[in-house]
Order: sequence, then C-alpha cells, then structure tokens
Amino acid sequence: MNRNFTLLVASVFAVGALTNCQNTTEAPAPVAETVFYGDTSVRAELFDDPHSYSTAESVVSRLYWEADVDFEKQIIRATALWTLGGKSIGDSIVFDTKDLKIKQVKVSGLPAQWHLGKSDALLGTPLVVMLNQGDKEVVITYETSAESEALQWYPAELTQGKRMPFLFTQSQAILARTWVPCQDRPGVRFTYGAKVKVPKGMLALMSASNPTQKSEDGIYEFSMPQPIPSYLLALGAGDLAFIELGERSGVYAEPEMVRNAAFEFSQTEDMISRAEYLYGPYYWGRYDMLVLPPSFPFGGMENPRLTFLTPTVIVGDMSLTSLIAHELAHSWSGNLVTNATWNDFWLNEGFTVYFEMRIMDAVYGPDFADMLEALSYDDLQRELAVMLEEDPDATRLKQNLEGRNPDDAVTAIAYDKGFHFLKLCEQTVGRERWDAFLKGYFDTYKFKTRVTEEFLQELAGLMTQEEWNTVGVEEWVYGKGLPANCPFPASNRFYIVDEAVKMLLGVSPEDPDAKSMVYLEQDVTIRWTTHEWLRYIRGLEAGGATVGHYRLADANYGFTGSPNPEIVAAWYTAILKTDFEGFDPKVYEEKVESFLTTVGRRKFIVPMYASMLEGDEKRQAWAKEIYAKARPSYHPLSQQTLDQLFADHQ
Ligand SMILES: [Zn+2]
Repeated sequence: MNRNFTLLVASVFAVGALTNCQNTTEAPAPVAETVFYGDTSVRAELFDDPHSYSTAESVVSRLYWEADVDFEKQIIRATALWTLGGKSIGDSIVFDTKDLKIKQVKVSGLPAQWHLGKSDALLGTPLVVMLNQGDKEVVITYETSAESEALQWYPAELTQGKRMPFLFTQSQAILARTWVPCQDRPGVRFTYGAKVKVPKGMLALMSASNPTQKSEDGIYEFSMPQPIPSYLLALGAGDLAFIELGERSGVYAEPEMVRNAAFEFSQTEDMISRAEYLYGPYYWGRYDMLVLPPSFPFGGMENPRLTFLTPTVIVGDMSLTSLIAHELAHSWSGNLVTNATWNDFWLNEGFTVYFEMRIMDAVYGPDFADMLEALSYDDLQRELAVMLEEDPDATRLKQNLEGRNPDDAVTAIAYDKGFHFLKLCEQTVGRERWDAFLKGYFDTYKFKTRVTEEFLQELAGLMTQEEWNTVGVEEWVYGKGLPANCPFPASNRFYIVDEAVKMLLGVSPEDPDAKSMVYLEQDVTIRWTTHEWLRYIRGLEAGGATVGHYRLADANYGFTGSPNPEIVAAWYTAILKTDFEGFDPKVYEEKVESFLTTVGRRKFIVPMYASMLEGDEKRQAWAKEIYAKARPSYHPLSQQTLDQLFADHQ
C-alpha cells in the first residue's frame, strides 16, 4: 500500500455519512491544483459512500481466506483473516456482512469483543469488532447461508457435462458481503491470498493467480498481489478444463465447451496488445477467462485476472467478442482506476465502453466499431425514452443512489451516455490529445479510486474554457436526458441493413411473390455479423412490422431456429409483442420456454418477459407459468429484476 493510497482512504472516509464513531482522521488532502470550470461546492459530499457500514477509523489492507466449499449443503465454511492497514487504527473496526453466520471473532490471536448491529434489507448487518492499540489482525470464522446472494449453486443436471455441480460468485455491486465479511465499498482496496477446498475432481478458480490443472485433493491456493476493491473478489468451481490462448491469456470452461471457447476468444492476446498500445501497461499479470453456465446474469464480469463470461457469446464467428474487449478494458477503467462510490459508476462503465470501441476499432477496423457505436446509441435512445418518463433523475451520469440498490444504476446511462460523453470529448479535443490524456490518467491514478468531480478537475486541466463550453460538461454530467450535441454515429454497414428493412416493410406479405421479392442474396448476408442481424430485427420492430412481415423474414433467414442467442432473444422479443398468428404456436411456445428455462442473461430474458407481459391475459399467464419454472435456475440478480417486472404488471 503506497502513501497516496493511504491518504486517499483517509479522505474517502472523512465525511462518510455512516460514520458512527469518533472521527480521528484529518481533513481531506487538497486536490491537486487544476483549473476547474464547474461548480466545486459539491466537494464536501464527494467521498460519501451510502452503501457500506465501514468507517474511516480502521481500514483493512490484506485478506487471507481459508474456505471449505460444501456443495451438498450449499454453504461455504470459511475463515477471513484481515490485516489492518493505514495509519488510523481506531478502537473498533466495522465490516459489512449480509446473511452470514458469524461463529467466532479473534483479534491478535485472542477472542474478541464483537457485536452485530441493526440489519437493513439492502445493506445487511454491520459487524463491529473492538480493537486495542497495536492490534494488527482480525480473524472471523463464519458460514454462508442459503440467502447468500452472491453465490449461485448450479446442480450438475444444468451443466453441459452433467457430471458435477458448479458454483460461481457475483460480488458487484454490494454482494461480496454475502460471502466474505469485508469493508464492502470500492474505496477500500486490499491484496489477498486464499486456500480453498472443493470436492475432488473439481477445479477452483479465483480473481487471482490460478491453477491450470485439477489437484488430487481438491485443495487450491491463490494469490492476488495487486490491491483490489471487494466487489472484485470472485470464486468459481466446477468440472473445468483450461486451454492456453497466448503467452498470458487462456480460457477455462467445461470440457465440452472449452475448444469452442478457445476458438471464439482466439484474438484475446491481440486485444491485450492493442489495449496496452492505447492506454499503457496491463498491470495484472495474466488475463484468463472463465465461461460460466448459461444462468450467469450478465454478459461478463471483469474479475481481475479471470473475467467471468456468459456462454451466450460463443456463437462460432467471433462476432460477439466486443464483450471480451469490454471486460479486458475494465483492467484499466474500473479495476485499475476505480469509481470511488457507486454514484460514480459511469466512471467505470462509460470509460469501459469507450475503451471497448477503441479496441474493436483497432482489431476489426472502423466499420465494425461504427456498428457497435450505432447499437450503443440505439440502446441509449430506447432506455432514455422509458427512463425520462419513469425516473428522469436516474438519467444523470452522476447518480444519487442513497437508500437504493446500486444495481439500479446498471442502465444505458452509465454505459452508453457515459460513452457518448467521452466520445464527444475526444471529438472536441482531437484523438491525439485525448489519448495522451487518458494514458496519463490511467497511469497517475492506477490502483486508486476516483469520484466524478476529481475526473472533471483533470478534464478541466486538459480542455480550454472554450472546449469545455462546447462540450457542455456540466450538462452532460449533472443534467437529465441527452444533450443536443450528442454525437450521432453513422454506420455504412447499417445503412445497407436499413435499406433491406425498408424493402421488406414495403411489400405486402399477402403478395404471392413477396418472399422472393425481399430475399437478400447470400453474397450480401454472408458477411453480416450478429450486429447486422440485430439491426435488421430491431428495424422491423421499429418500422411497425406486421406478423406477415415477420413470417416473411423468418421464412428467408430462419431466425426462429438460429443457434445465436443474441439473435434468438431479439427475435422472440419482437415476435412476442405480436399475436404470432401463422407461426406454429406449439413449436413456438416450446422454443420460447426452452430458451427462458436455460438462459439467465438479464439482457435477453427481461425484454422477452416484458414483451409477453404486454400481451393479453393468456399471454401474461403463460409468462408467469414459465417464470415459475425458470426462476430457481436464475441468479438472484436476475430474480430481483424479474420479480420487480412481474410486480409492476400485477
Ligand atoms: Zn462493464
């Protein structure tokens, strides 16, 4: 832990709203002198983290975690040995816990005085441990419970090989506390080591140095020498195999899938080099990936050294590897320079989407990146339309999530509005100046934490007053909706798709020649990637396609039977809004049900259920019936989102 880090931690906690102990830290160190064209009066609230009970008094710097993973009982029995760090060790230390059974707490080898505070449904329960002068270690022995939300236990029947069960964790945003008692806020970083026991025949992996082969006794040791925030703690275990992709990258997956995964992600090494060329060294040693069962709620999770990935991107043509670029980009934006609180989440995600586009541009060329940017713009417009009606405040880049689940901020605002803002900054100052600025930013603040206002100060150091005003920085960051100067991404490849959509919508589906009239020759579509097909399907939807039009499209391109989950999900989402008259309902309903009971990725299943719930009573009852069946196989995060969706449609 270096000096700057200690200073920052002290200032992070100095004004914490949850501080309930006497505050012995000094006032925050003054931020480096730069010109700030905006309003600086918000500084007093900068380091306020409304999502952790931990306080400034005592801060951890290292974890040693010993765990026994019991697949039969679906619990983890563990001991967390926390080393205290920083200068300001007070007379107590506070950890975040949620749904953990605390068995014993020791301080410096002796039984400690400790108690659990009042529980909160969102934040869990503070664990307060009393300290004496000179104490350096707190050892907490505990068990997880059936309610531990970060843990998803997956029965053997639902894995590819059906031989062994599977476990994976998802700690972001505030779920690390459901499997490790910790100071669960992005503002606290620590290194860690671990020793984990799993059933024999399984491989265990963490966001750390990893084994590539199964051990005889099911015991594995891990080391993470770089300091990380708690939301990047991760564990996965199952029947896994490894294939090396390059000097410092590889992929873990079930043996049935690992070869396909290695093919799909074969450009990873190239992406790492391109990313380093753009924004400086990759600081984490190896970059490996773990392919999870299909119930994983996200596309990917940027656990350092070991990105967790949905299997739904393995489609055989490498067209969805922008997801790898995204998770890899987090090795700089997010993991290296981290949002200080979840209110600053756009600093993690907006930067990462921007960086992802730049990697894709470097690897696949500008035409490809243009498509991704256009899709990002579409996503943003779609979500904005809803959000501006339902919750306009949530459309600001800088969020106020006090009392709310930080998961609520996982919207197109942080990702796509954030991206477009940074794109506009790039266009305004020019790519050369912008790249040098970002490279310097990542280097200066590596392994540190930033709030929005600190980034803005840096930005003010880069821009002239005129450039600052041209961009309209404050309106972008603090204003609602999308400023009028948002860059509009044009894509040549999508232009062709849009023409094809117009052609289809221009015919009458009843015309006996309609099918051949709108058929696109193979020499056009053979080069189409997933993105073009998505644009096509969304174009039909936006253009008011009738069931007849959809039937024509399906007859020509076989969307219903597509092996590509992105295409299938977009297709069902569109079709389920119609009465799908003319499609064989029996076959169709089976396919929808089979998709929804196997795939748990929120991006796919939430819009599909939403489409069904827009239908008549019969359709709604059908949605409820499928959800009842599928719910147990979904991750708690997907369950939460869907429970809310169904409650809204009561
Ligand atoms: Zn991300």
